Parts: sequence; structure tokens; C-alpha cells
Amino acid sequence: FDMFVLAFVERFFRPTYRKNDFVLGKKLGEGAFGVVYRASLAKNPSKEGDLVLKKATEYGAVEIWMNERARRACASCCADFVYGFLESSSKKAGEYWLIWRFEGEATLADLFQSREFPYNVEAIILGEVQDLPKGLERENRIIQTIMRQLLFALDGLHSTGIVHRDIKPQNVIFSEGTRIFKIIDLGAATDLRVGINYIPKEFLLDPRYAAPEQYIMSTQTPSAPSAPVAAALSPVLWQLNLPDRFDIYSTGLIFLQMAFPGLRTDSNLIQFNRQLKRCEYDLVAWRKTVEPRASPELRRGFELLDLDGGIGWELLTSMIRFKARQRVSAKAALAHPYFDREGLLALSIMQ
Ligand code: ADP
Ligand code: MG
Repeated sequence: FDMFVLAFVERFFRPTYRKNDFVLGKKLGEGAFGVVYRASLAKNPSKEGDLVLKKATEYGAVEIWMNERARRACASCCADFVYGFLESSSKKAGEYWLIWRFEGEATLADLFQSREFPYNVEAIILGEVQDLPKGLERENRIIQTIMRQLLFALDGLHSTGIVHRDIKPQNVIFSEGTRIFKIIDLGAATDLRVGINYIPKEFLLDPRYAAPEQYIMSTQTPSAPSAPVAAALSPVLWQLNLPDRFDIYSTGLIFLQMAFPGLRTDSNLIQFNRQLKRCEYDLVAWRKTVEPRASPELRRGFELLDLDGGIGWELLTSMIRFKARQRVSAKAALAHPYFDREGLLALSIMQ
């Protein structure tokens, strides 16, 4: 009984859907590669729509594949995928329809919009408001929880062999049912273990959050080998090129935006990227150039990262690095002392 039989059996018993089974609601988003709506089942309509439906172009096929794989291998990492199919009756060739459960109203980008962040997520992710005065310490705990959930989801994807390549606050959704942050939008993802989408489509990458390496695989491996060859080679290529570290860089930028409210706007993030490039992607050098004339807000961000002996700053600088192989993996980041609250507690008792 191998994976393929299981996949077949599962596919066979799961309901299959067609276009007419759905009623479309409000439009949630529109990108270059598809349109996203709230939706519900025609036979079971709900007012707002308890589903999300994406009509995608040719890249939809890859996105269905990635979602199917993620659903089987790391269900809680990504939005709950229901079904995907090719809508062939449409006049346009190859319109793919993808359906997920509606996870919640807010992405991390939406939550960033509030001046209250991170207090606006405190009760929903911690289950209660912390018994601490408002301040850096308390904010840091909320940010820690978000980072832990993000890295957990990322580790799930990476362990499955999937590199997301479009990690950004807009693609992190807060799941109201499970009260955790999940990753969405596998439209630019790549599955290196089976050679799917092997040649990076670098034009898909969002320049605001992209790591400096344009290509995920080195230029020495420019073309896709056949699937069986790729399957045999890819663990080796993975080890050589560490393509997952691309997502780590993007996640580091999200961490940065949580610590520095000023960097949450597009224009300031773009300006930061320019400054960092000028410092040859050396975050420590960047800090040296900005800290002497830092605004109170910027100084406050450094103070937050400097808590507990600078453990947050240490993690951040191990995520945002020029060389992919010098960045931590998601798994290693999860084991970083930044997340080790009991360890810190033990330390403080010993002191
Ligand atoms: P795009 O390719 O347009 O970026 P996404 O998959 O990122 O497509 O979806 C667009 C938007 O739709 C997201 O930013 C989010 O606001 C919303 N969305 C997507 N999937 C879900 C979901 N499962 N639950 C709730 N909202 C979702
Ligand atoms: Mg998106």
C-alpha cells in the first residue's frame, strides 16, 4: 500500500466538483495569474461563503499539485485545500479552479495595517491577554508566537520538498478556526523532489521580499531533468543549493517588519532593501549605519530585538544573509533559543 494507492483511494472517495456546484461571492483579490472569490456550494449556500475559490491561468495546474501535496504531508501548514480542477467548458483554454475552506478575514498584511499591532493579535493567538504591562517584553512574546507558527508552517513545507518562493504578509492568513497562522498562495511554489516547476519562473517573485539570489537553483543546473532523474538527483541538489533558504530570507523580512513598524509600508521596505544592498546584505553593517541617527521608533525596534541578551537580533541576522547556505533552516530556527521560553526562565532562576 504505497502513497500512490492511498492517493488514488482518497481521490476516489473524496467528492468531485464542477463549475456549477459553486456560487461566487465577493472578490477577495486579483493578481496577474488569477482572481480569488469567496464562494459557497450551490446546494449548501452560506451568506458570506465558507469557501475560497481561485480561478487561475496555466499556473493553476502547479498550484493544485502543490496544494494536494501539502494537504497530505503537512495539513496544518497551509489553508485547508478542498479541490482543484480544470474548467474546460470555459472559452479560454485552461482555466483552473481551486477551492479552499475560508480560513478567516485577515492576512498578516491586514493585521500589520493596525497601529495596535501586535496587540491586535494577542488575544486571538495566545488565547488570553498577557498579564504584563504594555511594552517591549509583551510585544516580543506575541511576535515570538507569530514567528514560531510561521516557521513551523515553513518547516512543514520544506520537509515535504516544497519551496514557497512568495512568502510575504499578504500570503500568511490567520485561521480563525485553529487560531494559527497558515501559509497560502502556492502559485509560485516549486517541488524540487519531483522536478515539478524545476526551472524557476523568476518573474513570479515579489521583489519586495525576494532574497538576493534571483535563481533558486544555481545557474549550473539550468534545465529540468526528466522526472525520475530529478527525483533521484533532487535530494543532492537540495543539499547543494539549499533552495529553502530563499523562504527563510523572506521570513526574516517579515520578522524585521514586526520589530520595526516603519518598515511595514511598501515604500519604506523598498528603501530598506536598497540600504541593505548598499551594505552588501550585511545586517550588522546596516545597523551600524542607521543606529547613530536612528529615530526613536527605529531605536525601539533594536531594543526589542536586543531583549534577553540580543537573542532576537541573533535569530534575525541568521535569517537575513546574502549567502543562502549561511541562513538557518526553518527547523534550526525553531530550535533557536529565541523560542526557548522555558530555557530562559531556567536561566533567570539560576542567575
Ligand atoms: P493571489 O495569487 O491573488 O495573491 P492568494 O491565494 O494569495 O492569490 O489569495 C488572494 C487573497 O485572498 C489573499 O491575500 C487572502 O486575503 C484571500 N484568501 C486566499 N485564500 C484564503 C483562504 N483560504 N481563506 C481566507 N482568505 C483567503
Ligand atoms: Mg497572494
